Amino acid sequence: MGRLDGKVCVITGTASGIGAESARLFQSEGAQVVGVDLSPDAVGDLAIQADVTKPEDVEGMYVEARERFGKIDVLFNNAGISPDDDASILDTSVEAWDRVQNVNLRSVFLCCKYGIPHLLDNGGGSIINVASFVAVMGAAVSQVSYTASKGGVLAMSRELGVEFAKQGIRVNALCPGPVNTPLLKELFAKDPEKAERRLVHLPPGRFAEPGELAAGALFLASDESSFVNATTFLVDGGLTAAYLTPL
Ligand code: NAD
Repeated sequence: MGRLDGKVCVITGTASGIGAESARLFQSEGAQVVGVDLSPDAVGDLAIQADVTKPEDVEGMYVEARERFGKIDVLFNNAGISPDDDASILDTSVEAWDRVQNVNLRSVFLCCKYGIPHLLDNGGGSIINVASFVAVMGAAVSQVSYTASKGGVLAMSRELGVEFAKQGIRVNALCPGPVNTPLLKELFAKDPEKAERRLVHLPPGRFAEPGELAAGALFLASDESSFVNATTFLVDGGLTAAYLTPL
């Protein structure tokens, strides 16, 4: 018995990181996974190469998923970027601002706009939109567009969860703390001081592993979370709750 037996889950950004880990975990729990990515290496029973900033791509990926599996139960809107040229508001170009908003916020709008009708056809479902801990706390080392985009994802998810609750759709914002990705590892191997400045705020003294985020998403996708809706679902090791952390 898998925790997602019989469910069809569309996950964006499954060629890497949290998305890839979640696609594998959802499959191992019995789901049929439609993996979407810009890259041709998306993990999934059906892999679709698509750009989630483009309305026609997003509409098309759901049509393809329906054609293959007949229904959609879960939307896991995970694709996102965090480029270096998104920094302090004083240094961030308008072009960089727009690029990050498009991938991180417009894509979630599109995935919900075109995905919700399929969930309604199926009598309901679960939507998991990936925000971030920076949606609820400020950093002196800013990525201004990223932070604003994740605040938008959080507020939009809450509102959609309220709007569609009576139609059986739950919408939660999964808010990861910093995750131990290859990029982060490389960055901090080069600059241990930079790593230490961040680690000091984390009560467990370490970053999350991608599998720990996938486990949170699995709970939100499954019927175990049937009364969990419109939440700020933090998987952050206590980061956003901490004042002084253990020595
Ligand atoms: P990642 O870079 O490892 O994976 C993101 C995937 O999204 C990539 O495969 C990429 O090709 C895909 N993608 C990017 N733009 C796309 C587009 N326009 N269309 C389709 N696919 C696209 O990232 P990750 O670390 O696994 O992060 C996943 C999500 O978690 C993101 O939304 C990110 O903002 C969020 N998050 C990550 C962290 C962290 O520390 N890694 C912390 C908080 C929130």
